[in-house]
Amino acid sequence: MIRGLVIWMLEALFCRASYAAAFCAVLLLGGGLAEANPPSQRDLRLRVIPERPIQGSFILVELEGAVPGDRVSGSFRDRPLRFFLDDSGRLRALGAVKLECPAGPHPLQLQVVPPEGASISQETVVTIREGRFDDQELRVRRKYVKPPKRLHARIRKDREAIKKIWDAPPTARAWQGNFVWPRRDTITSSFGLRRVFNGELQSRHRGLDIDGRRGSPVRAIGSGTVVMVSDRYYSGGTVVIDHGLRLFSLYFHLRGKLVKVGQQVKAGQKIGTVGRSGRATGPHLHLSVKLEGVYFDPQQLLDFDFGGEAP
Ligand SMILES: [Zn+2]
Repeated sequence: MIRGLVIWMLEALFCRASYAAAFCAVLLLGGGLAEANPPSQRDLRLRVIPERPIQGSFILVELEGAVPGDRVSGSFRDRPLRFFLDDSGRLRALGAVKLECPAGPHPLQLQVVPPEGASISQETVVTIREGRFDDQELRVRRKYVKPPKRLHARIRKDREAIKKIWDAPPTARAWQGNFVWPRRDTITSSFGLRRVFNGELQSRHRGLDIDGRRGSPVRAIGSGTVVMVSDRYYSGGTVVIDHGLRLFSLYFHLRGKLVKVGQQVKAGQKIGTVGRSGRATGPHLHLSVKLEGVYFDPQQLLDFDFGGEAP
């Protein structure tokens, strides 16, 4: 088993020249390991879980056979796979599948660059299954379907503020182990629904709605740093947590917000309370998760056992 630690190298140090979008993990392992063979003579085993992911889900990529000093990078659907060593010494990365990703085969690329010698590339094919997403009709106040002109500047400001978060450089992995539910209650809207507001505005539901009484607690799904606490037009009382390696969780329609920007939070920590602020039909929590700019089904992440079981 691989032992030791991962040093995250910023793109500027190592990777920019060869892989503009890729992020590399360098393995520095403790002593006592056998001499590393050149990668071409090694048995690199790449595993993707689940084997046939659905549209709007995430994949867990595992690599066995990397050795000390290797730089490991990869990509899927033109987005980098950011490898990390988990607590059990497994070299892993998360990837996300867009709701709009066409069903069918898509290549996943991997590259291992040893400290000396030629690099080795591997490619595998991930077959995406078509998801089934229901339709949902909703009625909201007119100003949330056709906002009056005086609100346009505010909406634009909201968008610009959150874009700054998405454009910031990746941070180190802060989550560990499994994710936890932000609250346990009835799921009132699942991820991916095709929505029509007031019979005219069409959108996809890129999160999970969990019922709740106004004022009941909302908890962080994993450890991380709070990067946004804001009152936004559509999402109302909003908290965004950066879990590292470009994984974020977003909590919408909050009544109370109990954290500050820059604050470190732990999995399960109370960060706010349920409300109905913004474009909401009643009090509930809307939870979104976003990886590398792609929203995927939060339920899959919350129910996933990172101990090694398939999702
Ligand atoms: Zn929602």
